[in-house]
Amino acid sequence: TRTQDEEDLPHATKKTMADHLRKYESLFTLTPQRMRMIVEAFKDTLELGLEKHGQIVPMIPTYVFGWPTGGETGDFLAVDLGGTNLRVCLVTLQGNGKFEITQSKYRLTEEQKQEDGQKLFDFCAECLKLFIDTNFEPGSIKDGELLPLGFTFSYPCTQDRIDHGVLIRWTKGFGAANTEGRDVAEMFRQSLEKQKLPVHLTAIINDTTGTLIASSYVNPRTKIAVIFGTGCNAAYMERVGDIPKIKNLGIDDDAEMVINCEWGAFDSFEHEHLPRTKYDQTIDEQSNKPGEQAFEKLISGRYLGEILRLVICELIDDGVLFLGQNTYKLEIPYAFDTAFLSLMERHVFDPTEELLMIIGIFSHFFALETTLAERQFFRALAKLVGRRAARLSSCGIAAIVSRKGYLEEGCAVGADGSLYNKYPGFAERVHEGLQDIFGDKGRNIITYHAEDGSGVGSAIIAAMTKIRKERGLH
Ligand code: BGC
Ligand code: MG
Repeated sequence: TRTQDEEDLPHATKKTMADHLRKYESLFTLTPQRMRMIVEAFKDTLELGLEKHGQIVPMIPTYVFGWPTGGETGDFLAVDLGGTNLRVCLVTLQGNGKFEITQSKYRLTEEQKQEDGQKLFDFCAECLKLFIDTNFEPGSIKDGELLPLGFTFSYPCTQDRIDHGVLIRWTKGFGAANTEGRDVAEMFRQSLEKQKLPVHLTAIINDTTGTLIASSYVNPRTKIAVIFGTGCNAAYMERVGDIPKIKNLGIDDDAEMVINCEWGAFDSFEHEHLPRTKYDQTIDEQSNKPGEQAFEKLISGRYLGEILRLVICELIDDGVLFLGQNTYKLEIPYAFDTAFLSLMERHVFDPTEELLMIIGIFSHFFALETTLAERQFFRALAKLVGRRAARLSSCGIAAIVSRKGYLEEGCAVGADGSLYNKYPGFAERVHEGLQDIFGDKGRNIITYHAEDGSGVGSAIIAAMTKIRKERGLH
């Protein structure tokens, strides 16, 4: 802890920090009016995606038909390739909306995200083999028996049936070669065959799709699912007759199908609608996919810490912060994890303790000493960045709500992901944003912590698919 004489050091004073803060406040604050404009543009974009193939926000028909009954039963395996981890699950659906789950997590290395795609799927298959060997007694899987497997692959894939998906583009910093434009289900099947695994790849699903189905399994009021994690996306249910681009395939117009929006791509390339600061532009330009995922880059956990870091680095360059200290640790791209923002915003009842957290982050991880004025500034800055992310999220949710006319009757929004689950006040800010957009009626839209879509949702979808197959449906 620093002593009373800290203000004698060449640190930024309270007054200069307050002046700077005002500038960032105007850059990062979204007025209700601006939010409503974004919602309008968002709605048009959703519509365009449903109308035509190949749009920037692709509005992907998932071939997941209708809601679960809650009565689905059986044992299912799920492999979940997310943005950070690989997870393998065994889910037992017990009917009555109940389930049991056993799971193992494996960390993905940066190399695995970038090297050959087939190798990545080989690794998934190896982990699945390890999981089966550990969790099933020898002989408990009969000869010739195949366990149904759901593959949660949380990247945009075009589907024309449920067990097939062509990767449109990698997101979230992935860049594995020889994968974009290919059927990832087929690639994964090859890897499964190499391991001679007793499984049958039944469905390939997005995490949002899984979250929608899993949440509705336990809470039938759920109409929309959103993920605020390393990436950001949403799914909801659409009437087939209202999806012009697949109208002529002979599917019953009144059937309902889950749409994976891939809304993270909203405003990509054109950058017409979203309030991007120069820090956002820097992140975009230095990413492996410049121009892409414009909405996601303002919201998701992969980027928030980096936005804050870029602001701080600017103030270092301008000679405002950390004069005379060595700032090299903070100058490394992505060195400032979004988890630090969560910690900085964590509401501790004792305000001195709260600021102690910030002392700790800077001294322990970056070898930097901070003054009280600086700590207050950092916390205020974190709040601006976190609040903007939440309010932009409200815009996306509001667009789906208005398209579907859910405002009057209200609906529940199942939400998941590290940002939603761990960032203090994120949900409250989303709700506040919805009220800024819709007025008091915004209170009818409630987000809540969703069921595990990538594991349980995947299993329920595999079960629903099995039932449809037995009935000779799509
Ligand atoms: C992906 C989506 C995914 C989201 C959340 C995005 O980067 O494109 O498919 O649902 O992240 O994981
Ligand atoms: Mg995930």
